[in-house]
Amino acid sequence: MRATVMYGSGDVRIEHVPDAHIIKPTDALVTITRACICGSDLWPYQQMKPSEIGNRMGHEFIGIVEAVGTEVRRVKPGDLVVAPFAWSDGTCIFCQGGLHTSCLHGGFWGGTELDGGQGEAVRVPQADGTLVVLPVGPDHALMPSLLTLSDVMGTGHHAALAAKVAPGKTVAVVGDGAVGLCGVIAARRLGAEQIILLGRHPDRIALGRDFGATDIVSERGEAAIERVRALTGGLGAHSVLECVGHGEATRTALSIARAGGAVGRVGVPQDATMPAAMSTFFRNITIAGGPAPVRAYIEELLPDVIEGRIEPGRVFDRTITLDGVPDGYRAMNDREAIKVMIRF
Ligand SMILES: [Zn+2]
Repeated sequence: MRATVMYGSGDVRIEHVPDAHIIKPTDALVTITRACICGSDLWPYQQMKPSEIGNRMGHEFIGIVEAVGTEVRRVKPGDLVVAPFAWSDGTCIFCQGGLHTSCLHGGFWGGTELDGGQGEAVRVPQADGTLVVLPVGPDHALMPSLLTLSDVMGTGHHAALAAKVAPGKTVAVVGDGAVGLCGVIAARRLGAEQIILLGRHPDRIALGRDFGATDIVSERGEAAIERVRALTGGLGAHSVLECVGHGEATRTALSIARAGGAVGRVGVPQDATMPAAMSTFFRNITIAGGPAPVRAYIEELLPDVIEGRIEPGRVFDRTITLDGVPDGYRAMNDREAIKVMIRF
């Protein structure tokens, strides 16, 4: 079969790899029908040291179950399934608590040991806990939005929950990538009254407004902080969603939360230390978040997608085939595309 392998910064190749197959009785074999490239795939694309063996890539996919191991009960051949970006057993103490990304028997796709989503097929460990059966066919018009349940929509939702978004609250979203835009959807869905999107790209801002952003802040640094304060009566936002992960965005997010407010961070931190330690301490800011347990949110968000109340699939602005993946990485890295979908 063919799959995406990254060998170093800027070096993404489509290669023949060993066919995915069932190894453990709890596995399923899934043929991919849709996958995508993630903003978090761009960190290794920018920084990975050259590797001889390379890393299999991709952690967001929808596919058809081809076969299951002898202990799999909840999914069967022929089912169309969506996979979260982390696999999990669904039964351990952390899964039962809704924190599937800390599953005692779970893990993440790709790397040097496991299949990744940017390939023709995947061996899915812990299939019963990991996969969610979709109630539509593989070419349904809602595929883009359903695919976002594997990561970006669940991650935006996680940021909103960590930031304690609730009806009537003022929310600020730092970052206009796919996760930030899904964070706007999540904030509106949870009843936020004012949603300030911090971003600069005209196409992304337009989509953010469609998703529910009430104010746009395109300044940076101190000017952005001043602008958010001006928009919130000088107080700052109750809830801040940090959807970028590097120093300046994190500093901005922590600085625009009002006293007693909360920052939900889902951008993977690119720095070893967190800024604004003193000012967040004295203002009693809650700092929460981490890798989103998107498996915990799929059942909750699925009806909103199926019934058309949210359209997170609009973050996809380019569709490619597997051969187009290397250029898809380039396009996202150059900010030519917000998010790229791979159709098999
Ligand atoms: Zn678990």
